[in-house]
Amino acid sequence: MWEKVLAMAKRRGFIWPAFDIYGGMRGFYDYGPLGAELKKNILKIWRDYYVVQEGMAEIDSPNLSPEDVFRASGHLDKFEDYMTVCEKCGSAFRADKLLNIEHADSLSADELWEEMQKEKIKCPECGGPLSKPEPFNLMFKTRIGPKGKRERVGYLRPETAQAMFMDFSYLYRYFREKLPFGAVQIGKGFRNEISPRQGLLRLREFNMAEAEVFFDPENKSWPGFDRYADDEILLLPNTGGEMRISLGKAVKKGIIKNEALAYFIGLTRDFLLKIGIDEGKLRFREHLEDEMAHYADDCWDAEVLLSYGWVEIVGIADRTDYDLKRHMEFSGERLVAMRRYDEPKEIERLEAVPDFKKLGPLFKKDAKKVAEALKSMDPSALKGAVKVKVDGKEYEVPESAYTVKKVKKKVSGEEFIPHVIEPSYGIDRILYAVLEHNYNEIEEEGETYRILSLPPSVAPIKVAVFPLMPKDGLDSMALDIYRDLLRMGFRAVYDDSGSIGRRYARMDEIGTPYCITVDYQSLEDGTVTIRMRDTKEQVRLKIHELPEKLKEMGMSGGMRG
Ligand code: AMP
Repeated sequence: MWEKVLAMAKRRGFIWPAFDIYGGMRGFYDYGPLGAELKKNILKIWRDYYVVQEGMAEIDSPNLSPEDVFRASGHLDKFEDYMTVCEKCGSAFRADKLLNIEHADSLSADELWEEMQKEKIKCPECGGPLSKPEPFNLMFKTRIGPKGKRERVGYLRPETAQAMFMDFSYLYRYFREKLPFGAVQIGKGFRNEISPRQGLLRLREFNMAEAEVFFDPENKSWPGFDRYADDEILLLPNTGGEMRISLGKAVKKGIIKNEALAYFIGLTRDFLLKIGIDEGKLRFREHLEDEMAHYADDCWDAEVLLSYGWVEIVGIADRTDYDLKRHMEFSGERLVAMRRYDEPKEIERLEAVPDFKKLGPLFKKDAKKVAEALKSMDPSALKGAVKVKVDGKEYEVPESAYTVKKVKKKVSGEEFIPHVIEPSYGIDRILYAVLEHNYNEIEEEGETYRILSLPPSVAPIKVAVFPLMPKDGLDSMALDIYRDLLRMGFRAVYDDSGSIGRRYARMDEIGTPYCITVDYQSLEDGTVTIRMRDTKEQVRLKIHELPEKLKEMGMSGGMRG
């Protein structure tokens, strides 16, 4: 099936291999005019959910980041796959992908090697012997700045999430210091996949849409959970088996750990169905304990059934306080929120009291910041000389420059590190799944007829305008209608080449829901026919009724919303 979908997608201008005239490169694709439009429509609906419905804040940050970011996030140490190389032809492979066992991606190098030997795995390209798997970091490394003193190591981001963590304090203030709130980002992710295959499913540069939702760890409920509480969903919990159960019940029974995770499972399903994913080919699978990322408390993947098998398209993870904690540790900045008391409380607590007479001469203009950094550290852990970080510089504060004392204080609340729930969407995989789930072939009189049953809201072209014949004034009338529709903001095309049947077929193949035809009767009474893709039904109506009719059928003129 995927061969057929990709062939259609290439022929009609959805997806083209990138750098094709230079022989192409695995893991890189271009979206052609229809693909780019389809992607835009999917993202518009994604924004309708996350930014409009949920009121989350969208940010836009650089693709390239300095090394510090990924040292803190853990990607530098842990973002790797195991690679095995053919000793005869030199081809490299992801070791886990060569094995015929489930969840091979959670095995260690030794376990993979053992399985490879047990299954007698040879090079899929030439049959040669394969090496013992070794870890391979998936990030693209580069340099930022000119050679010399100012040069820094940088990496292309493997996910968009880190910016939302680094900007936490700005976002917290933006949301008037109230939790929960969410920030989203749509952008590119880069991963130097060892052997990208399977079309759009494993790319080296791909499109992501991610939300980071910040919570008070004591309260992972979500306002408006009712919206999805009764939705029955196919779940595969990591305790085994599969079940169709409502989200409300799944939370009550502890199958899904908290309401917020369940809410985003519900929202994800709603979004996926809206853009044309087949409900019968959608499930949510909980990660096995040993499959879960090192930081995650719980994680559910939206998986769709494709001709390649079940494929993860969205990951919804409870990342706890891992990311903010790590960035606090590595940057020295406080990334915390405040839990306010109803009434101020008097408390006694240990506190570091800096001695400015000593700090001043030692740290000059940075003395104040050093004192603040000192005060923000856990006072019970302060002993002897301590190292503090200020604006990326490390200073050593001698024991004589501070004391740790019990002090009485009136406080209006307490600080805590928020937890994060992250729905992370792989847009290219989603787009491919939408194509495959809506691709239909019908054999008609020895010919293959193709229909792409896209929901009108994601269809790249909303309406086509045809003159029955490109002559006798039919063409100029059709062109006028076409231009008017464009001006009103409808994504329209005009086509007058080939038989009318061929033109309908071309539009059915790319998923255009409506075709308008101008015929000889149009010249007499100012009416046209409008044909529906899915029912092939045709209705005749007055030209001036067209915009209203298109709106009634779920189309909106883009510029007028
Ligand atoms: P992850 O951070 O690995 O959970 O990835 C988040 C989402 O991005 C996944 O659910 C996939 O849909 C998508 N994704 C991950 N890696 C790739 C890739 N190499 N090519 C295309 N999409 C990817």
